[in-house]
Amino acid sequence: MTTPAARTATPAPSESPAGDLALGKELPMADQPAVPFVEIETLRVKEFIPAAKEALSSLVAEQGQARVIRPVFNWAGRNSLFPLHWGLACCAIEFAAGFGARWDAERFGVVPRSSPRQADLMIVNGTVTWKVAHKLITLYEQMAEPKWVIAMGNCATGGGPFRTAYSVVPGVDKLVPVDVYIAGCPPRPEAMLDGILKLEQLIRERKE
Ligand code: SF4
Repeated sequence: MTTPAARTATPAPSESPAGDLALGKELPMADQPAVPFVEIETLRVKEFIPAAKEALSSLVAEQGQARVIRPVFNWAGRNSLFPLHWGLACCAIEFAAGFGARWDAERFGVVPRSSPRQADLMIVNGTVTWKVAHKLITLYEQMAEPKWVIAMGNCATGGGPFRTAYSVVPGVDKLVPVDVYIAGCPPRPEAMLDGILKLEQLIRERKE
């Protein structure tokens, strides 16, 4: 029968299957000073959070934000884009179809959220009128940083067939900064997915 002491004992380096990565040992990193690796199992939650913050801070200080943290944020952000769940005009039908079973945009980690505070991507999918402009700006300002905008279709890009109408904004970039434009009247769901993948590429290359 295994005794409690035997169950909690840290294995000797030669017995550990993980070798140098065993708990309580130093984590070796190529051409970098060793980072202290805490024994997580021995910490309670209240102790774990300060220890984790300290370990993360030292990692940032030693290896620099640009080389370690930024790529991690970019990787997480581009694989979990949360577009605002809304629709403005006929392009919104294509937007909705893109999340159905046939095109299944959620396989890219793109999940619509109904609150702007939980969204980081605004897909402007229709004609923007001056009447709705201030609502659009309010929603954009309520979204979480970092945030992105895709102008989907000719109306959002430049006013489309209604460009000269007194009531239509000739391009949503007059109101908010646009990262990706998708042409078409309406663009098909495949074009929307292509625009999302283009945005993911922009986020991958983001430096700041
Ligand atoms: S671009 Fe065409 S399909 Fe899209 S909202 Fe404008 S008129 Fe409708």
